[in-house]
Amino acid sequence: MSIEIILLALSPIFVIFVSYEFIKFRRVYDIKDSLANTALALMHQAADAIALLVLMPFFYWLYDFRLFEVELSIISVFGAFLLQDFLYYWFHKASHHIHWLWAAHVVHHSSTKMNFSTAFRQSLMYPLAGMWVFWMPMILIGFDPVTVFTVVALNLAYQFFVHTQIVNKLGWFEKVFNTPSHHRVHHAINEGYLDKNFAGVLIIWDKMFGTYAEEEADKTCKYGIIGQLNSNNPITITFHQWHYLIKTMFTAKGIKLKLKVLFGYPTSSVKHK
Ligand SMILES: [Zn+2]
Ligand SMILES: [Zn+2]
Repeated sequence: MSIEIILLALSPIFVIFVSYEFIKFRRVYDIKDSLANTALALMHQAADAIALLVLMPFFYWLYDFRLFEVELSIISVFGAFLLQDFLYYWFHKASHHIHWLWAAHVVHHSSTKMNFSTAFRQSLMYPLAGMWVFWMPMILIGFDPVTVFTVVALNLAYQFFVHTQIVNKLGWFEKVFNTPSHHRVHHAINEGYLDKNFAGVLIIWDKMFGTYAEEEADKTCKYGIIGQLNSNNPITITFHQWHYLIKTMFTAKGIKLKLKVLFGYPTSSVKHK
């Protein structure tokens, strides 16, 4: 349950940041958009809590097959953080390149706004899409499930702070860490910005694997998804891409094409309406 408790404990800080930004920089907010974000956050948290009831026993079962005995120490916790951030990079990159995972992740990108409340805009479908599969290597290496879910929660908590337009570039920090500037690029659909900066906490992975793009002063970020969803209905936001994915899968002829729809590069549900 650690993941829920950590995010719950931090929620007063999240509320303070959202309130400050809302009062001082009203123009980056749209009330209906932020209300949708809040509803989506609650739906996501509820789904995660239920999923953990099943996932924890499964992860403890998997833990019995671990390759090493990893003792808790400063070094091993640092190692867990580094490995999880590395795996998060691949989870996030896969979420943009594999339609099945994008169907869940698109929720986070489907707003044309960018503010602290955008961080809450998440899909309740992540457990079903299989985000947890990406943490399985950590369990098999020998990190216990509580440590794994704790670093997952801390990584997600860090990412709250990169969802803002009110923080400019942060000097040397930009070189190593994911920052508001890097993450604005990630949420933008401009040419050269799309499918870039998949980082959780460390931006080094994007630089290592060729997915890094710098925010340019003369290229204002255009936020959202290609085609734009234009809905503040949490149900529509959550399920539009799943509906489109399943429909396209059924109309595709032959197993090869069906698999391509499910696991190939996502196509836009909104463009095809
Ligand atoms: Zn993304
Ligand atoms: Zn984001």
